[in-house]
Amino acid sequence: MSDMEKGIATIRHHLKDPDIISTDSEDLLAHGYSEWSSVNVETLPVAVAYPKDTEQVRTIARICHKWRIPIIPFSGGSSVEGHVSAPFGGISLDFTFMDKIVRVDEDDMDVVVQPGVCWSDLNRELERMGSGLFFPIDPAPIAKIGGMIGTNCSGTNAVRYGTMKDWVINLTIVLADGTLIKTRRRPRKCSAGYNLNGILVGSEGTLGIVTEATLKLAVRPQHYSVAVVPFNDLTCAVSAAADVIRSGVPVAALELMDEAQMRIVNDGGVTRPRVWQEVPTLFVKFSGTVASVEDNIDSVREIVRAYEPGEFEFAKDEKERELLWSARKESLYSLLAMRKDGNTDVAVPLSHLAEIVQASKEDAKRLDLNACIKGHIGDSNFHENITYDPSNPQEVENVKLAVKNMISRALEMDGTCTGEHGVGLGKKTALLSEVGNDTIMVMVSGDLCETNHDPTLAGAVSWPGHWQSISDEFCLLYQRLIKGALDPNWIMNPGKVFDR
Ligand SMILES: Cc1cc2nc3c(=O)[nH]c(=O)nc-3n(C[C@H](O)[C@H](O)[C@H](O)COP(=O)(O)OP(=O)(O)OC[C@H]3O[C@@H](n4cnc5c(N)ncnc54)[C@H](O)[C@@H]3O)c2cc1C
Repeated sequence: MSDMEKGIATIRHHLKDPDIISTDSEDLLAHGYSEWSSVNVETLPVAVAYPKDTEQVRTIARICHKWRIPIIPFSGGSSVEGHVSAPFGGISLDFTFMDKIVRVDEDDMDVVVQPGVCWSDLNRELERMGSGLFFPIDPAPIAKIGGMIGTNCSGTNAVRYGTMKDWVINLTIVLADGTLIKTRRRPRKCSAGYNLNGILVGSEGTLGIVTEATLKLAVRPQHYSVAVVPFNDLTCAVSAAADVIRSGVPVAALELMDEAQMRIVNDGGVTRPRVWQEVPTLFVKFSGTVASVEDNIDSVREIVRAYEPGEFEFAKDEKERELLWSARKESLYSLLAMRKDGNTDVAVPLSHLAEIVQASKEDAKRLDLNACIKGHIGDSNFHENITYDPSNPQEVENVKLAVKNMISRALEMDGTCTGEHGVGLGKKTALLSEVGNDTIMVMVSGDLCETNHDPTLAGAVSWPGHWQSISDEFCLLYQRLIKGALDPNWIMNPGKVFDR
């Protein structure tokens, strides 16, 4: 604590800007506790820093590195696995004032942005400019570029446009000790050297701080349509979705909500006056030219016919299209308005989708939980939202068990414990089961030396620090390991992804 206070005083002294650091208790709470998150901790950050440019971020990092103060990068704060919590105190680094769209290059179809730019604001600006371009990755409407890179997020558009990693051209990164690097130049493809974007995108603020990003932009389709397709049962809805994907018909988004989720949307009233049938429902977005959209709608209608869907409802105009899509986009907000919510996501190979969705639903029923299923079904990625009473120990235990079972099932099917939300605090054990100890060790630390390599070197290290006493050989081995090389003092978002 005293080191943290000294570090904060040094930052204040060096940056000579009274607005840079806040220790206001409400500010600390707003940064260390998240209503969105399925997991929280009792500790809070000691301070919140609001840098205004890359140089200020470098100064903060240098000082934190020296005093070993944790840095928790914070952009929109919408992540759901305790990513921005502060289990070891430290400084939450908030990018509210680094929110500039630095440059839009329409000819090259790319944009340079600071980390505090919200993707929905970026799209509004691109539309206002009449650029005919847009940024297609769409997680929570409040999410910002820094955090979206942090979690390698996706959203409803992923089935057509992929995930955040596919849209990053280069990154400007401040490393833990204040070193500044740029991962690449500006061509859309590049084979020069290691793919540092690949390491940093999805690193959840544990390897470095994004202070600028060059992102690809997509051409805005001429025409959209949204169809809402009700089914009598969940397996039919999921199997129909899988058949659409296998057919290769280019849908722009393919989302599922089960009957419980549809009920929640109706009860939440966010789409009033529209009220929905409370049955498993697919939301299908089509985009392209008018002719191609009509063609694709006909194809999808034909493909899903075998599963005896109800009437297709289509948006007649843009306003109605937004209303239809809002039922899907607003679903988490409706849930939060209800009660404490646990939200987890897994993804599996397409052929296992119907089986895992059904099994997870049955498991939740067996455990007497109030759960609903929704998800980016077109990517074989789905979410289970469980609303529960956190003061009821039995219910809390059942929620944990349901989540554990769902993850185990996904892993048994060669799936992943998280398709898009990330690991954060909540899924560290699951990550270990998913990739195994040796892979974790490549991500993390010198323990690999102790377990798999020359045992005589093991005693040479007193982790963390004391680099001087480590032999050259050990250093070489150690530096091959990603976290150890980029953040030797383990100050970048400690406690997330894996433990030391
Ligand atoms: C209503 C709702 C809907 C959602 N829908 C989706 C969805 O469809 N798809 C999806 O993928 N996710 C979804 N999410 C989760 C969330 O929106 C995403 O994880 C998003 O990417 C988080 O962005 P953020 O700006 O809020 O990040 P934050 O929560 O601020 O941070 C996320 C992580 O990135 C790190 N980070 C933040 N800024 C930086 C930086 N400058 N440099 C380095 N690291 C940084 C943080 O330390 C943290 O580990 C949803 C969440 C909500 C609440």
